[in-house]
Amino acid sequence: MKITSSAWTDTLIHLLALASRLEGEGQYNLAKLARAAADSMCRGAAYGVAVPSDVEALAADIRQTAETLAWLGVAAEASSALAQGAGLLAEGRLPLYSILPHPHVCRTCGHLLLGEPETKCPTCGAWPDTYQRFMPIYWLDALEPAAALTRLRRTPGEVAALLEGLSEAQLNQAPADGGWAIRNVLTHLRDAQGVLAFRLDLFLQEEHPTLESKAVWTWATNEGERPPAAWEVFETYKASRADTLGKLAQLPLADWWRTGQHEEFGVMTLRQQVSYFAAHEVTHLTQIAALRRQWVADE
Ligand SMILES: [Zn+2]
Repeated sequence: MKITSSAWTDTLIHLLALASRLEGEGQYNLAKLARAAADSMCRGAAYGVAVPSDVEALAADIRQTAETLAWLGVAAEASSALAQGAGLLAEGRLPLYSILPHPHVCRTCGHLLLGEPETKCPTCGAWPDTYQRFMPIYWLDALEPAAALTRLRRTPGEVAALLEGLSEAQLNQAPADGGWAIRNVLTHLRDAQGVLAFRLDLFLQEEHPTLESKAVWTWATNEGERPPAAWEVFETYKASRADTLGKLAQLPLADWWRTGQHEEFGVMTLRQQVSYFAAHEVTHLTQIAALRRQWVADE
């Protein structure tokens, strides 16, 4: 049976209307399922959509989408910020928090604004505290302190297991698609760990430190004249991780809520920074496992 796009859209919108109604009835478990089904429909549909990876084409795509949003009557503030962000992307820059604060959406009527809502919703009168905040990436709030520590402790061992039996040449071999070799992933993990270690020291030494925005993934293919062997990169990562774990283990729990000013993400707690780096690493395990399969075919 072919599903028409209007049946699909109607079902999606109806699920969200149903979820709000169910929340009003106190039926939160049914409401969560309706919201999950709506999210699943959207992600499932988006999964099959091709979006350009080339930066110029991606920026053009964002500008086009911003125009469509404006035409559809979605908050002008959001469509112009998207267009502005596309310009920065095309120049190889990141939009900082000062020009792109966290968006908030009224949970009742969908009114969208950039930054903290301070007055009641102009459309439906909902209290500003009831808006939904959209954070840059789920990693920030993925792991509570104990779970983040467990994850940070466990990942180097999982990486080591994925490197087991591979030669230096295999670790350095780029895949056919021209993407990262395992070496680049290891370099990236080491660099990200370095940023975590550096920021942890800032949190320990300063009150509300400034956390500079870092495009860490661009460092993974930048090497000095005499790059270390891939396993040495891994050893550096592991040693730095052990040092960080030692410092975190001694930290009073309340200190995890110390704040800093992140150039890209705004006010951040140490808890959010640790969660971010712990959760981020896991996404690269899949990548290493996929690269390993070119050498170890039966896994
Ligand atoms: Zn509203």
